[in-house]
Amino acid sequence: MEDIHTLVDIGEWEMDLRKKSFAISWQIIRFLKLDENTNTKELFRLLTKASQYQLTKAFHNTIRFGLNFDIELEIRTDYQRVWVRFIGKPHHCRGKITKLVGIAQNITKEKETAIHLYHYQHGLKTLNAIAANASLDFDQQLGLAVKMVCEYFGLPLGVINKMSDKETMLLHIHGKPPYPALKKNSKFSTQNTYCNIAYTHDEVLAISSMKTSAYHKHPCYHIFGYETYIGAPLWVEGKRFGAIGFYDKQCYKRSFTPEDTEFMRLLARWVGSTLERSKKEQELMLAKKQAEEASQAKARFLSTMSHEIRTPMNAVIGITHLLLQSNPDPTQIENLHALRFSGENLLALINDILDFSKIEAGKIEFENIDFNLSELVKSIRHSLSYQAQQKGLLLEYDLASDVPHVLVGDPMRLSQILNNLLSNAIKFTNKGSVKLHVRTKTSKHDKVTIDFAVSDTGIGIAAGKKQQIFESFTQASSDTTRKYGGTGLGLAITKKLLELHGSRILLTSTLGKGSTFCFSLTFAISADQQKPDSKPIPAGNAAQPSKNKHILLVEDNMMNIIVAKQFLTKWGIQFDHAENGKVAVEMVKRGNYDLVLMDLQMPVMDGFKATRQIRKTHKELPIIALSASVVIESRQKVYKAGMNDFVTKPFKPDELHQKLLQYLAAEADQN
Ligand code: ADP
Repeated sequence: MEDIHTLVDIGEWEMDLRKKSFAISWQIIRFLKLDENTNTKELFRLLTKASQYQLTKAFHNTIRFGLNFDIELEIRTDYQRVWVRFIGKPHHCRGKITKLVGIAQNITKEKETAIHLYHYQHGLKTLNAIAANASLDFDQQLGLAVKMVCEYFGLPLGVINKMSDKETMLLHIHGKPPYPALKKNSKFSTQNTYCNIAYTHDEVLAISSMKTSAYHKHPCYHIFGYETYIGAPLWVEGKRFGAIGFYDKQCYKRSFTPEDTEFMRLLARWVGSTLERSKKEQELMLAKKQAEEASQAKARFLSTMSHEIRTPMNAVIGITHLLLQSNPDPTQIENLHALRFSGENLLALINDILDFSKIEAGKIEFENIDFNLSELVKSIRHSLSYQAQQKGLLLEYDLASDVPHVLVGDPMRLSQILNNLLSNAIKFTNKGSVKLHVRTKTSKHDKVTIDFAVSDTGIGIAAGKKQQIFESFTQASSDTTRKYGGTGLGLAITKKLLELHGSRILLTSTLGKGSTFCFSLTFAISADQQKPDSKPIPAGNAAQPSKNKHILLVEDNMMNIIVAKQFLTKWGIQFDHAENGKVAVEMVKRGNYDLVLMDLQMPVMDGFKATRQIRKTHKELPIIALSASVVIESRQKVYKAGMNDFVTKPFKPDELHQKLLQYLAAEADQN
């Protein structure tokens, strides 16, 4: 009979309990490569500790309980490592266990394959974990992967190279001493790198002993003497990009397996795609930066242009006001009204465009300051009462008594929203009333959510237009501008501002009957409910305080000076003029002024700097900024520089007059 034992390494063993002997067949002795005289004790000692324990337990269970066993044992000698499948069962003689018998099979190959496979899977899992770690950027992921794969192979040096036919550059490197001399971004001649082989052949190259390989004449071997190399080509965006490789100056401890090659292939694919994503991200960031720069340039352009436009508009509107007040010819009155209407409309348009472009550019920041809601509502009503009166409309507000007085938020933006809705309501209502309702929706701890509703008895909005009117530059009908003026931006701004506050605007409307716009906003309730609003508006006919007052007008634009001069003269206020901040500082030192009207943008020295200088000596002197800029930030800048208040140019004569009266009266009170 043929020797079936050559097919598999298998043999029998027997343990005689009575004779206390242990015998193994010659096949076992052969595959364990043992000396024939090796005794049982010596054999047992060759087992690893874990295997010794396992075997003892198996024997014990068989002897005591008559159980079969099937275990895997590991045998280690200086020169080899063998895995054995060890199967055994009891042998009975007259009801007693007298022997244990069984077979042993050499399973080293299977076991090694399984270990490689396990190692391979573990490697992939680790790589996966690195790739999935969102707290690392692409660069960090790649760096960590190179380090991890060095450990995976047990090789001391790993690199990722970007390559061309001529030059190779190190993108990532991990090296245990003595290798760290190499640096990121170092360059080599491509000819001198093993990576060039993987790169040009476009496949994984795995060599465990260079000197006995076909590449023993490679320049890399001559120059650097690396014995071990495993590397793979990298592809990025469908193009050959470079290679990833791992090195050692020692020969590799074993030969590379198909799992190793496969692992390199997968690694290279992942590295390629990571480099690709990293490149895309950089491109995206660049594009984003360019877009931001473009949008900043646009915002700058708009702000400069609006300043440039507002300055002459100041003159146009101011002079129109003056002409209207100087007994014009009845035939001229209509023209002057048209002129004023167009001027103011143009101004509103500029303000809206500027505001809208700021919101679009995401450049809006909200304030968080204490403000008095009922004062705010009153002052809005006050500012719109004239328009309502002109149209014979009732303008009412209803502020529920449970609404806290002092809130924390952005009063300027809330005013803007309410103003937009209320002026629309007045604009699109020809008879009846416009109402503002303010109620507490919910109140919890130190937060309150307030419902606002602006309703009118006006022309209403067709169902089909209810969505569209919130889009920029959109009006309900094509003749709206002609009939009512406007830009179609107000609601778009309102909607965006509310969205930025995490709120939404709701519209109910019936054509011909009227409309209601509602929204809710949440505010923190101020701890200080007594706090009155900033400055009280002085009583109407307080013309007195301005008599015999002497102010300094700091302004560089001739047209503005002419307009201001006429108003100031009309109000009986004396003034001197300074053409820039530097002159103003000097004049304040010498003169005895009651107030300064300060333009902000001027040659030689601007209004901010001039104010800071004046404040060094004159702490109390009221300084009111006159600015063509409507940007809210400039307001804060104005207060920071030490100015008391702010009037936008072109100034509404009434507004400027009120402010002058207010500060001159306060000044008079103090004296
Ligand atoms: P503008 O008022 O400058 O035209 P808005 O964005 O504020 O721009 O409004 C867009 C359009 O919505 C208006 O032109 C008008 O057709 C319509 N609209 C807004 N508010 C009302 C209202 N209260 N009643 C009727 N229509 C309105």
